Parts: sequence; structure tokens; C-alpha cells
Amino acid sequence: MSGAPLLVPQADPGAGYRAHRDEIDAAVARALGSGWYILGAEGRAFETGFAAWLGTPHAVGCGNGTDALALALRALGIGPGAAVATVSHTAVATVAAIEMAGAVPVLIDIDAVHYTMDPAELAEVLAAPPAGLPPVRAVIPVHLYGQAADMDAILPLCRRHGAHVIEDCSQAHGASLGGRRLGTFGDIATFSLYPTKNLGALGDGGVIATADAERAERLAALRQYGWRSHYVSDEVGVNSRLDEVQAAVLSVKLRHLDAGNAARQAIAARYDAALAGTRLLPPARRPGGTHVFHQYVLRAPDRDAMRARMRAAGIGTGVHYPVPVHLQPAYRGRVALGPAGCRRSEEASAEVLSLPMFPELTEAQVATVCAALAAAADR
Ligand SMILES: *Cc1c(COP(=O)(O)O)cnc(C)c1O
Repeated sequence: MSGAPLLVPQADPGAGYRAHRDEIDAAVARALGSGWYILGAEGRAFETGFAAWLGTPHAVGCGNGTDALALALRALGIGPGAAVATVSHTAVATVAAIEMAGAVPVLIDIDAVHYTMDPAELAEVLAAPPAGLPPVRAVIPVHLYGQAADMDAILPLCRRHGAHVIEDCSQAHGASLGGRRLGTFGDIATFSLYPTKNLGALGDGGVIATADAERAERLAALRQYGWRSHYVSDEVGVNSRLDEVQAAVLSVKLRHLDAGNAARQAIAARYDAALAGTRLLPPARRPGGTHVFHQYVLRAPDRDAMRARMRAAGIGTGVHYPVPVHLQPAYRGRVALGPAGCRRSEEASAEVLSLPMFPELTEAQVATVCAALAAAADR
């Protein structure tokens, strides 16, 4: 989309840097001056701080959120000869990581209200995987847009069938369910630290959390050639490390994460009020959960026209995601689906619209979005 410059962008990672510039610049200078750039004191400090913030014993940094998922699968012994169930309505990274680990993805549909994994369909896939597929040994629920998948239903199903649970928390840093932080429910949790995420580096990054000391130790080996001591690979690993400069930046950003999430929630409440009484559907909150609004996603039957009207008013919007994974050229006709197909995923992809959402949005910008929303919804 082109045209006049935007009054309000949909995302602005630069604003997240400028808001904490002095602290970040000091942290970067410290990391640069240390003369140690990969897997050192900054990385360890971030891992320790992140684990304490999450409330889990172990965190292991890595290169990005996709690698985090692939490493988690490998650390659980899941690869060739196993199927892994996840959703089609997610970042393509979730599905790419399953194939990176050598496993076969099975994509199941979402529920139409919260856009997360439909437990009823998961139950069917766990009981009987699609024809020709190996058994489902792991499930990756995605906590989409900033709130929980239906863990109260998903966890007992997985336990009953002996399937591991890897929570994809890349859009839900700080969200909770039943008073517990997401990322503490499954066997392993993975977080992308891509710049626009709720906790974002100034480049690529990822972190993996687990309560199990042995798994944490295996993850730390797998991320660096399978080394447990230098130059000796106990098993085949990869190179996926979080560098010291990013770790130093992330330790600063982590201190501001909860306040940033609170700012997102306040902006979401303003958007809710602007949508009240219009024909547009605001995002539903899962009962018992907190939503940290990685994205504020409304639903509009005439989504593309709405988007154009917002653009004309100087408001940037996003679509997460315009094409479900099973319909993308690399996966179409090749990847296994649950028994019901992914009809609700397809319907959502045609109607979802993401409003501007980042903690540094100013009062005036939020007011501009709300006014444009009311006008565009009226047409
Ligand atoms: C961003 C994201 C990822 C991938 O993270 P990268 O750091 O870009 O590799 C995975 N899953 C979800 C749900 C994401 O939003």
C-alpha cells in the first residue's frame, strides 16, 4: 500500500528503541567494550533474568523464534517418524520449524472466537492421525495475538495421549491464564524476540523456557553444534545463538516489558470503546486470561475496503495472516489437515484486521485511530 505518509504506523520498533535510548545505548556500549560477543555474561544475565521474570527454572537463548521451536522439538526427541499438530492460522514459522526438525506437520482448525487451536479437532487427530501419517507425538498450541490457546482443554488431551506440549509464546510474552504465565504450562515454551514482538531485540533473537534441567542442558548443547565441552559434539547440533549485544539490549527491554504490556492493554480498551455500536467485531478475551495485545485484531466482513479507508485516513493496518499456511504455495496440497479441513482459518484470514499497536503510541495517535475507525466503520 502506498500514498501519503502515515500519521500512525501499524508497528514502530524504532519508537521502542527511542523510549529507552540511554539505557539501551549504555548496554550496547558495555557489550561492545567487553570484547566478548557470543555466549558470555550478557547472554547468561538475560537468560537468568528472563527465567525469573517468567517464573520458570531455565531459559536458553537462541537465534530466533523459528529455531527455538525446532530446537525444542529436537530436545524432546521429536523428528523423523513423528507427526506434530499445530494450527494453520499462525506465522508460517510454526510450521516451518516442524519440518526443520524432520517431523510431519498436521494442521488443525481454530475456534472462530479466539482464533486458537480447536480442542475438539485436536482430540480427533490425537485419537486417529490422518491416513498415512505417523502418530502425533507433540502438539504446538500457538498463543495467538497476545492471549492463550485453550490450555484447560488441550493439556489433558495431550497428557492422555502421551503427546508433548510446546507452547509457541512468540506473541504472548507476559500473558497469563488462570493466574499463571503462558510458557509455564507445557514441556517447553518458545519465544521469538523479533523487533516487533512484545519483547523485541534490535535484530533477531529467541529464547526457550523449560522447568526441566536436563532438557535445558540439551537445548544449550543443540544450539551450538551439540557441544557440551568445546570442540566436541556429543550429538549433531546447529548454530543458533543469541549474541551478546542483543542479550544486553534485551535485558533492558525486559525491565520495561510489563509496563509496555499495560500500555498495550490501555490502548486496546480505547479501541474497544471506539468499536462499540459499530458493525465491526472487537477481539474476544478468553475468560480467566490476560491478553497482552501483541496485535489488536478486529473482524470486518469488508476487510480490504476497511483497510483502504484507514490507509486513506493515514492509519497503517496489518493482516495477520492473509493466507493460512495450508494454502501457501510451499505447503498447498502437501501438508496434512485435520478431519474438518481448515474452513474457519480460511474465513478468518479473509476478515481479520490488525490496528496500530505498540506501547509508545501517543494519546493523540490513539485518538486519530479511533476517529478514523468510527468514520470507516460507518460507510
Ligand atoms: C514471530 C513468530 C515466530 C517466529 O519467530 P522468528 O523470530 O521470526 O523466527 C513463530 N511463531 C509465532 C507465532 C510468531 O509470531
